[in-house]
Amino acid sequence: AERLGSGDYDTPMRGLGRSDEIGQLAQSFEAMRVSVAEQQAQNLRLAYWDTLTGLPNRAQFGKAVAQAIAEAGESRAPVAVLMLDLDRFKHVNDVLGYHFGDLLLKAVGERLTQQVMRDGDLVARLSGDEFAVLLRSGDAALAESVAQRIARAFEQPLTLQEQKVDMGAGIGIACWPDHAADADTLINRAEVAMYAAKHRGSGVLMYDPALDAASAQTLSLLGELRQAVEQDELRLFLQPKLALGTGAVVGAEALVRWQHPTRGLVPPMQFIPFAEQTGFIRQLTLWVFEASAQAWRDLHADGTVLVLSVNLSTRDLLDQDLPDKFERLLLKHRVPAEAFCLEITESAIMDDPDRSLETLKRLSGMGFKLSIDDFGTGHSSFAQLGNLPVDELKIDRSFVMSMESDPKQARIVQSIIDMAHTLDLTVVAEGVEDAKAWDLLRDLRCDQAQGYHMGKPMPANDFLAWSARWVERRRMPGAAATTTLLH
Ligand code: C2E
Ligand code: MG
Ligand code: MG
Repeated sequence: AERLGSGDYDTPMRGLGRSDEIGQLAQSFEAMRVSVAEQQAQNLRLAYWDTLTGLPNRAQFGKAVAQAIAEAGESRAPVAVLMLDLDRFKHVNDVLGYHFGDLLLKAVGERLTQQVMRDGDLVARLSGDEFAVLLRSGDAALAESVAQRIARAFEQPLTLQEQKVDMGAGIGIACWPDHAADADTLINRAEVAMYAAKHRGSGVLMYDPALDAASAQTLSLLGELRQAVEQDELRLFLQPKLALGTGAVVGAEALVRWQHPTRGLVPPMQFIPFAEQTGFIRQLTLWVFEASAQAWRDLHADGTVLVLSVNLSTRDLLDQDLPDKFERLLLKHRVPAEAFCLEITESAIMDDPDRSLETLKRLSGMGFKLSIDDFGTGHSSFAQLGNLPVDELKIDRSFVMSMESDPKQARIVQSIIDMAHTLDLTVVAEGVEDAKAWDLLRDLRCDQAQGYHMGKPMPANDFLAWSARWVERRRMPGAAATTTLLH
């Protein structure tokens, strides 16, 4: 009893063979010893092992890294940590269900274990879809080659229950003693490298102190951008879209600007790509959409019925709640979906065609018009174009702007217009900078035009006044736009 009391559950009781009272007591104590020992083993399993994959968990991994560093001690033989995060796991879980997700995590654990073949190395599941590998006496070159091998293994789709799943992963590497002095910092830096690898879309990345600086900078810029929304620093600009046949104003494209307290009016190219990288674009898109809905109400109250175009990013298309979020804003501002055209680039669709198509179909079903933006610059697939529920195609301004000087470009524009018409799409030309381009496009039977020649993006509040002036200009003989528009 004293032995049990002091925590020794390993030594069996003596006297189990006796048939007297002491023997009975010994048997009871023995039963208690076995059950407590099992319970303790179970507790240890729960504390140090991941029950789903049977791999060590974060706590055990941390201990193992600390131990590896302690053992390397004097010799300073390097220790490396690899951190890996799956690319589309949340999506798999959402679409194929949690049970399938669980099976997939097990399969990933197995695939990883197969790639790490040396004794003493350790594969662990840290959380969700995050795994880690400890390479004892592994220098940077070895770590890099193991990481590349893992990355290649993850390029092969996994087949589970007759489902093929494409499973990319981002992998970060950090090495002791070069990158960190202790286990916690080492794990942390491997994670920093992993996030950077995912942002860059590249498979494997070695930790570099510059990444920490970059991630600190990212955080501060992200903070500023959040603040921009909260403190009302974003501005909605509208650029007119006109019918080439009649010169009538038929719509406008919503283009965002950032009225920065010290940097002035910041153009979208200086913060949209960053917002896309960090996922903040989702909030930004909702801001632009809501501001556009309000602008549409104001214009509508004035009797002007226009279609407002709003740009969407890849991240928006991958957000399955986007249609619901838009629906709520439409109800809130009492604006019909038909008041909007949503512009999407081809590369945004190509990032994850199946999932994007799902979102696009829902948006189109709700009544939104859809447009392919910057057409001709992405990897266009005409086959794909036929399958998309789109209504409009915008020819990229690079074609339009070179059309006048280069007959070949003009022929490309001509064939894009013809092809789009075959598919019953409205064609819009961007970047119309002079009357000659306007005339040429009209002759090529392009439907609409947008560009500095007619109007630059302007604050939404100035749009009505601009429209009035535009109509006036069309009536005045001799004015620049009129000469062509009166035909
Ligand atoms: P985009 O969607 O292709 O928008 C058209 C861009 O062409 C605008 O640039 C516009 O000012 C410019 N542009 C229009 N007419 C002419 C012209 O005649 N000549 C020339 N040289 N340029 C012309 P902006 O406003 O700087 O926007 C750049 C890009 O930023 C947009 O390209 C779009 O991809 C992105 N963007 C802007 N606002 C948003 C937004 O609210 N959400 C998202 N996701 N992206 C946005
Ligand atoms: Mg656009
Ligand atoms: Mg465009």
